[in-house]
Amino acid sequence: MKMRAINRICVLTSGGDSPGMNAAIRAIVREGISRGLEVYGIQRGYQGLIENDIRKMTTRDVGGILHIGGTVLQTARSLEFKTESGMKKALKNLKQHKINGLVVIGGDGSLRGAMELNTRGINVVGIPSTIDNDIAYTQMAIGVDTCLNTVVESIDKIKDTASSHDRLFIIEVMGRNSGYIALHGGLAAGADIVLIPEKMVSFDSIIRLIKIRKSKGKTNTIIVNAEGAEKAGVIKQNLERKINYEIRVTVLGHVQRGGSPSAFDRILATRFGCVSVDGLLKGVTGVMTALNGSKYSFEPLDKVLSHQKKLDISLIRDIEILAL
Ligand code: ADP
Repeated sequence: MKMRAINRICVLTSGGDSPGMNAAIRAIVREGISRGLEVYGIQRGYQGLIENDIRKMTTRDVGGILHIGGTVLQTARSLEFKTESGMKKALKNLKQHKINGLVVIGGDGSLRGAMELNTRGINVVGIPSTIDNDIAYTQMAIGVDTCLNTVVESIDKIKDTASSHDRLFIIEVMGRNSGYIALHGGLAAGADIVLIPEKMVSFDSIIRLIKIRKSKGKTNTIIVNAEGAEKAGVIKQNLERKINYEIRVTVLGHVQRGGSPSAFDRILATRFGCVSVDGLLKGVTGVMTALNGSKYSFEPLDKVLSHQKKLDISLIRDIEILAL
């Protein structure tokens, strides 16, 4: 962390979008301007940076966006940014606009990009924003809470119909490498079985659980499956062969990313936004904003990105016990 004078900062959103990104952009722009900075916005993440899609922002540009999901700066995945020539273009454009502080809002990949820029002399603060909550050294990232609320609301609705028809529902949620949404969404919605990539279980043990439930008089079952655990269709086929149940599959898909951010996400994003600008002004760089307990802090990006966040899989036991 080195001290460098900051007078012109910019912000970009990158990778997968998540609800609350707009609240963070709003906070960065308004906090920055209130502290005497010029604030620029980069459209479409690192790809826009390479293509010089950079414009000055005013406090009015971020009016009316606090409650809207997605990102007004749009987001993108940029393969070119990962190449040496792409990186050179990015650095040239930052230099051309005389930008001396950057806030990157995004997930694991976006934060890696931020670290690369930092090692090349750019002052950078990252803001964790991913519905998977898979970024280490922060208990929460922007979008997690809203996503969970969407998942819970959907499971609640499906439970209503499952209990009316004595059906088994397999509800597939996002999470290619992480079972966070399935596990926490399942716990909050009272799911009966949760399948996650971190702890694979056999079809036989799923069937055993369903049979125990049936023997206790429970005639419907909700299985929440993380997309990275097993394909919902495969689970259906395997269960249908061995149990006499009408099985339905619901894949929640992109509804999980969209929607108006929850109060929690708006507050988290707003605080992260203000804290990131304050950090840049104080000479902090190469870090990510973090929330642990009620404490906001900066965590070094190299530490964050070299650590795999562990999911508390003991929650599976709680779900199974409470489902009986
Ligand atoms: P997320 O930020 O949601 O994890 P991605 O993994 O797709 O999404 O990353 C977003 C973008 O960040 C990528 O398209 C790429 O431009 C950049 N990026 C990802 N990984 C790296 C890396 N190791 N080095 C530099 N840039 C990266």
